[in-house]
Amino acid sequence: MTPQISFIIPLYNEALVFQKLIQRIDALAERVEQTLEVILIDDGSGDETPYLMRQVALNNPRYHCIFLSRNFGHQYALSAGLRYARATEAVMILDGDLQDPPELFFEFYQCYLEGFDVIYGVRKKRKEGAFKRMSYFLFYRLLQRISNTPVFLDSGDFSMISRRVTNIINSMPEDNRFLRGLRSWIGFNQKGVPYDRDARAGGEPKYTLARLMKLAYEGIFNFSVFPIKFLTFSGACCLILAVGYFVITLVRKLVWGDVPVGFTALLFMVILFGGIQLVSIGIIGEYVSRTFLQVKNRPLFIVKERITEGQIIHD
Ligand code: UDP
Ligand code: MG
Repeated sequence: MTPQISFIIPLYNEALVFQKLIQRIDALAERVEQTLEVILIDDGSGDETPYLMRQVALNNPRYHCIFLSRNFGHQYALSAGLRYARATEAVMILDGDLQDPPELFFEFYQCYLEGFDVIYGVRKKRKEGAFKRMSYFLFYRLLQRISNTPVFLDSGDFSMISRRVTNIINSMPEDNRFLRGLRSWIGFNQKGVPYDRDARAGGEPKYTLARLMKLAYEGIFNFSVFPIKFLTFSGACCLILAVGYFVITLVRKLVWGDVPVGFTALLFMVILFGGIQLVSIGIIGEYVSRTFLQVKNRPLFIVKERITEGQIIHD
């Protein structure tokens, strides 16, 4: 039977929390009236995660597995889950480390019934380190200022998305996935539901600082042309400055003839413009490289194997 709801849970080396996760989901499923499928995506884990997933999916038809051929990253694992979700009503995206309480399903679903297409969790409090909290706080505020589309503050991927919006996301071929950005770009009726973000149920965060910075980078360059605009603006300012400087020097030379010989100013200018030019080239490169990646039109992820209704599928 086609399920009404799909849960999408990406997993990367989550063997330590896996059993807890399944217990929580099973307990929740007991209380859910709607038919439910749970799609677990293995994002190329190197620990026992794939083995545990297999055990669960072969014994319980509610669970489906997608094994990616390597580690593609959280956003791609989610894209794979969205692609295979069969839910007729809505999908719910949550992290595998139980930081997003699955029980929020009821509240999300209520909003879905009220006619919202995208219901996303808004973090009231984060139980993470001060540095990480501060970085998130600043990042979302920066992105909101410069983004071309509205960004919802402090909302991550934890959300419920209606069938029609899922279809739209699936039809979007963009390579640099920043799902919370795509989700908000699509529009329709969206609503934030505040919640307390729990600490990890076990194991280590898979998002290192470098990965978080990459995600922030994707968010900025894919959803904003502000860097390019800012460049044009600062380039123009420098030009005005340089012309002004030139005019003043010329006037001084003609009127008083006391222009000091020396190349400090010259050097300063050369360095200034050299810097500006390099930054400009870099930023243009950013957008060009994105075009490059996109025109290659590679698949977003590669599925090695799937298990659905106890059947192992290679496709
Ligand atoms: N994850 C993934 N692929 C990756 C990194 C993470 O599928 O390359 C999964 C991970 O297993 C977890 C979710 O994405 O279920 C969120 O990751 P994490 O908890 O490390 O991120 P944080 O909560 O620190 O933002
Ligand atoms: Mg986490």
